Amino acid sequence: MHPVIILLAAIAVAALPRNVDHIEPNETIDSNPGTGYNNTWEASNKSTVSNGTLTSQRNRVIVNMHMATVGFDYGRCGSGFGSCKTGSCCSDYGYCGIQEPYCGDRNSTKFQNSGALYPPHTNANIYKRSTGPTTSIIPRRKVGSVPYAGSGEIRHCTEMGTVALTFDDGPSAYTDDLLDLLDEYGAKATFFITGNNNGVHEIDDCSTGYPAIIKRMYDSGHQIASHTWGHPDLSGVDEEEFDRQMYRNEMAVRNILGIIPTYMRPPYISCDYNCAEKLDDMGYHNIYFDVDTVDYWNNDAELIHNSMNNVDAAIAARGEDPSQGSFLILQHDIHYHSVYSLTEYILAAMAEAGYGTSVTVGTCLGDPRRNWYRDAQPATVEC
Ligand SMILES: [Zn+2]
Repeated sequence: MHPVIILLAAIAVAALPRNVDHIEPNETIDSNPGTGYNNTWEASNKSTVSNGTLTSQRNRVIVNMHMATVGFDYGRCGSGFGSCKTGSCCSDYGYCGIQEPYCGDRNSTKFQNSGALYPPHTNANIYKRSTGPTTSIIPRRKVGSVPYAGSGEIRHCTEMGTVALTFDDGPSAYTDDLLDLLDEYGAKATFFITGNNNGVHEIDDCSTGYPAIIKRMYDSGHQIASHTWGHPDLSGVDEEEFDRQMYRNEMAVRNILGIIPTYMRPPYISCDYNCAEKLDDMGYHNIYFDVDTVDYWNNDAELIHNSMNNVDAAIAARGEDPSQGSFLILQHDIHYHSVYSLTEYILAAMAEAGYGTSVTVGTCLGDPRRNWYRDAQPATVEC
């Protein structure tokens, strides 16, 4: 077996989701248990808020906006304060700033001409090498109609007839080929990327080749989302480590693309109440899935048909009526057979069942692309 495959297989075992540890390799999981499939938001067990009230969300936004201004001194604006300095904009809440929450939709010209960049982070001992300023100070206004993490995890697409392929744990050596395949099918996927690639590489390091792959994803209209920096169980880390896991991954994406994501999937699908609250404060949507291909158990030429069977079972459960069904599918682009056989099988099976090609999670939730990201400091990785 090729050394890379052995390495990736070892990584795969290390990264096995804990919540499916009980599933045997040949066991087909019920990806659509009972009649619970109803395309509604499912509040997390410990959350008492079903969809987040306007009041609580507004309060949270105001708090965040206020915290975000600490240390910037962009000043106040509006009634009694006047206009912001040239290059910055006045937010709805009366704070000056240069990011999208202040200036409206992405306006790179205004942003670049402002000449005002965030100060470098001061907690340098956290980071091994120069990775740029922290993203923790970016304002996190909540926009759109898709619930944020404090309102519960999202398990289903809401746009009927849609299929959303999602890939966790990458990028990997297979991802560029996967992008070729998706192009052939006119398919868009969502990549929940892990910044240090499960300990193998740091994605914003040019020597890995990953910056170019992530740029290709982004430019091709795929969705870039977070799966944390180092793939920990977010229910089991302290606050400092939680912040580092989220912000360092944002910094890597920022270094490559100049944006940070607003969608994330917690490793092991583990996110307790505190985790959900933290993600909510950070302005994230918490995305689960409703079809687990179980590709991590079936990454073998002799076993991958089990993952295909799981998809077939999901289609059968929905019925072949695209007006009544949708699919939010979990795969991992670190697994060879998931990339090189399962993905095309799914795309063909969905087409045969009358569904369209894959779209991003944002699209399958009816969320426009401008809401998938926040403006960050300019990209610095040139490779
Ligand atoms: Zn993962």
